[in-house]
Amino acid sequence: LKASILAIGSELLTPQRADTNALFLTRRLLEVGVAVALRQTVADDMQLLAAAFRHALATTDLVIATGGLGPTEDDLTREAAAAALGRGLTRDAAYLDALRERFARYGRVMAPVNEKQADLIDGAVLIKNPRGTAPAQSVESGGKLLVLLPGPPGEMEPLFDAQVLPLVRQRAQGAVLKTRVLRIASMGESEVEQLVAPIYKAFENPRTTILGGAGQVELHLVAEAADEAEADARIEALARPIREALAGRVYSEDGKDLAQVVAALLKERRLTIAVAESCTGGQLSARLTDVPGSSAYFERGVITYSNAAKADLLGVPGELIAEKGAVSEEVARVMAGAAMQSARAAIGVGITGIAGPDGGTPEKPVGLVYLALAGAAGDRVRRAHFPGDRDRVRQQAVQAALEMVRRGLLKLAPL
Ligand code: ATP
Repeated sequence: LKASILAIGSELLTPQRADTNALFLTRRLLEVGVAVALRQTVADDMQLLAAAFRHALATTDLVIATGGLGPTEDDLTREAAAAALGRGLTRDAAYLDALRERFARYGRVMAPVNEKQADLIDGAVLIKNPRGTAPAQSVESGGKLLVLLPGPPGEMEPLFDAQVLPLVRQRAQGAVLKTRVLRIASMGESEVEQLVAPIYKAFENPRTTILGGAGQVELHLVAEAADEAEADARIEALARPIREALAGRVYSEDGKDLAQVVAALLKERRLTIAVAESCTGGQLSARLTDVPGSSAYFERGVITYSNAAKADLLGVPGELIAEKGAVSEEVARVMAGAAMQSARAAIGVGITGIAGPDGGTPEKPVGLVYLALAGAAGDRVRRAHFPGDRDRVRQQAVQAALEMVRRGLLKLAPL
């Protein structure tokens, strides 16, 4: 069963508003084993809308549209869908009464423009929308199912879950589509690709997609099967050789992000951590404290941005900074050790680097970051040179620091 999604509304084609309905629907459909093969975002334009509906109906089995069911002139979804199906629209008298009553209940008289919200495509089934005035509708045509849903997520989501998902599940006939996400930190997309492509290319089911982010790569393994157990077995058959090829680099397979994984390790071992950050400006502390229950392991974080701060708060000797530079292996080490000691924590982390865009030199270019680890997870230091703009450099530095802690705790070789 192939599905398509139409997000309708000119506002969705501006930089101010994102189409989040498609993401919600894609997630829900995947959960019941239906893959989304086509997504369209369409302006409030009769011709474009009718063409989009025609295309979706010609190429997919299940078409779900959201938005454009309101009372105003630019709400054209009903008309466009009817035109694409070659059907008429009929005003539903019972719903019209219900709509009038709804307005009356709030002490208002319904404006004539609202009447068109009771228009139903011929042959369609009306689906009540308890949270709004625009009802949804579903219609079958040539073995395909078309569903029109209201645009506001607060109306669409509960309506979809309660009244549309059961219909879809019935059509999907118990097929299962399962996804496992393998996450890898501090490794480039092409590096991962090179190691694992020969493995996953030999598998047609699961299918694998690779997604790169700042300091993180994800492998999405999607299996199609008759039931959950078969899907799990298929995924594991591919995940196992991938895991082996990546030798300890896969840090999560259950949706946890790197900070959550590090948090769980620290908690399990009853270890506390303190961090000293320069170029990341507190982002490592933020990531570590984003995790609920972080007071169990996070002792403190200091942001020592200036040389004076490094001297005052961490006791980094002025001569060391003068001799080696604030961005140096030696300073990173002192930062990690001092953070740990002053906090009486089990583990200390130090980060110092050049996030850019200014401040780079040929010897110390933008993107150069020194990361140091001290204490119970081992004493380590890493010199990394991260590509990208200021934001990306900082994000990669935080990921690398978390990965350093994880690898230290698990006694995996330093990077
Ligand atoms: P209503 O009767 O409430 O107007 P409608 O079906 O006409 O319902 P729209 O007018 O198209 O819905 O959209 C109403 C609001 O819903 C938009 O301003 C926007 O905030 C939100 N919305 C619509 N479509 C989407 C979408 N695809 N993703 C996220 N939000 C959306």
